[in-house]
Order: sequence, then C-alpha cells, then structure tokens
Amino acid sequence: MQSSNAPTRSAPADSDSTGATASPPESRSSSVGESPTVKPATAAIASDDSQRLPPPEKTRPTRVLWQYVIVLSVVHLIAAFAIVPWLFTWSGLIIGIAGHFVFGMMGITIGYHRLLTHRGFSCPKWLEHTFAILGMCNLQDSPARWVAIHRMHHQHSDKQDDPHSPLVSFLWGHVGWVIIRHRDFDRTSHYERYVRDLLRDRFYLGLERRGRWFFIYLTHAAVITAIGALVGYLVGGSGEAIRYAASYFVWGVAVRTVFVLHGTWAVNSLAHVFGYRNYETRDASRNNWLVALLSHGEGWHNNHHAEPRAAAHGHRWWEFDMSWRIIRMLEMVGLAKDVVRPKSMR
Ligand SMILES: [Zn+2]
Ligand SMILES: [Zn+2]
Repeated sequence: MQSSNAPTRSAPADSDSTGATASPPESRSSSVGESPTVKPATAAIASDDSQRLPPPEKTRPTRVLWQYVIVLSVVHLIAAFAIVPWLFTWSGLIIGIAGHFVFGMMGITIGYHRLLTHRGFSCPKWLEHTFAILGMCNLQDSPARWVAIHRMHHQHSDKQDDPHSPLVSFLWGHVGWVIIRHRDFDRTSHYERYVRDLLRDRFYLGLERRGRWFFIYLTHAAVITAIGALVGYLVGGSGEAIRYAASYFVWGVAVRTVFVLHGTWAVNSLAHVFGYRNYETRDASRNNWLVALLSHGEGWHNNHHAEPRAAAHGHRWWEFDMSWRIIRMLEMVGLAKDVVRPKSMR
C-alpha cells in the first residue's frame, strides 16, 4: 500500500514498550530493534508464510463471544441503513463527522491511548475522566479492558502472546480477536498486572461493574437521538422529528461508531502489515498514511512502537498528526502537562 524512500533508523535506545508508569517490569523491556543497520523501507510481509503466527494460546479452545458478535453486528446493520435516502439529513451527517473528532479522537486516540495507556501527558482528573467518558461512547469496551489489552500488545507485539497480531491472519488482527474469548481478559490477575495504576482510581474501577461502560454508550446514543428529534421538531414539526431522530441515530451514532471502530482496528491490522518504517523495531509495525488519516494520527504506528510514550506520533514534518495538535493546544492553555516528546522534537 505504501512505500517510501525514507531510510529506516534504529529506534531510540530509551524507549520502552508501553510507557505506563505501573506496567509490569517485563513490559518495560525495549521493544525496539538492536541493529543500527540502515535498511531500505520494508514492504508488506503478510505474504511471507514464515512470519505466520499461531493465535494466542489463551484463546484456545476457541469460544465465540456472542454478546460481542451480536452488538457489533447490530451496529453495523443500523449503519447500513445510511443508504436509505429518507434517513439522510445534513445536520445528522455533521453530527457524525463531529462525533468522529469528539468521541473518536478525544476519547480513543487522545484519551484511551495516548493518555491512559501510555501516559504521554498528564491533565486534571476532571479532564482525564471526560476523555474516558468520550472513549466509552465508541463501543470499544471499558478504559481498563482497552488499556490492559493495548499494553499487552506493546509487551508482546507480533509474538504469539500479542492479543491481535495480523501475522496470525489479517482478519484476526482486525476483528477476529475481538469476538474470540481470551481467557486472561476475564482474570483479575490480568488487570492487576496491566492496569493496577488505572484501577486505583475508583472511577475506572466502578466502570468495570455490571458493564456500566455499555450503559454510558447507550445513554450517549439516546441523547444524540433526542437532540435529533428536537432539531427535527423545530425544523418541521412532529413528522420531521421522527425522521431527524432516526437520521441522527443512524449517522450520528451508528455510522460514526462503525467508522471509529474500523479506524482503531485498522491500526492493529493495516498498520502492522502495510506501510513504511522509520525505525527498526522488533515488531511488524508500519507507518500508514491512510490509517493516520482515518484515526487522527494513530497510523504513524511504527513511530509509535519505536517511542511508545511520546504523545506525538508523527515524527517527520509531513506526518500530520491531528491528535498531537490538540495535545499541543491543551499544553499551551495549561491543561496538558508533562508532555512526552519524541527524540526528533527534543
Ligand atoms: Zn501496534
Ligand atoms: Zn500504543
């Protein structure tokens, strides 16, 4: 998909695998390449069978998580109703696009990933919790579960214990791992190991109880739908209220949720298979411009694996990273502190 004339570099020596302050010691071992040899940019490797991995041992015997299959199928099905012209409204589309930034970028990219997983910056608790709430409005599980899985990914990137390496199969890395049970994800020891720091905060601990995060997702969907009904009523009375409510539900909730889901999943699948490498990391991570565009900078994934704690994922001037711009703005107004910069920016 991508190629580049940019030479690969050995990754900075001080990078760790998660950057998380409370991550287990072994997860802090270097995840980056040892060889300083400059190599040409590497091409896709998925076709090389010698690189194939078996799925994580803890996913055997295979057990389908039907609740995930059903919920994800339903949201995709609702999103497919976007092809019905009656359900299209311009304001519904705008709510969907705005939601991609507000919930997708602020919640997942900045909140779940750069802040909660890697502690690439710090901010006031009220803002951190706000980012986490926005994150839950994307149907991507609770903060603790998401962060634990992602720290595990950095610890074992593209090895058998990586929960979602596309070297098992592209589909596995994209969505297969979501719907197949991983025994560790239900164990308290898994959470103690990977997210002890997060669960010290009663806010995150409380969200683990009785699927509260899912209730937050449903609540946000109801609020957006209600706003649609109100706008429709103001525009054209009760007839339009129904159409606008349905439009906001389809475009502002379902289409956006599906878009953000696949953006996040593409980081795990596409950005570990297609693209170029600035750094010789020990994993298959790639910088992929398409994924970077769809996920507000997360597609500069080889850079991220080389320096996981860095809050900026674009390391070259042309590697545009919208999330980093927002974090910089938060820093300028005094809301983000201890911002970790990559070596190229220091
Ligand atoms: Zn990765
Ligand atoms: Zn990460």
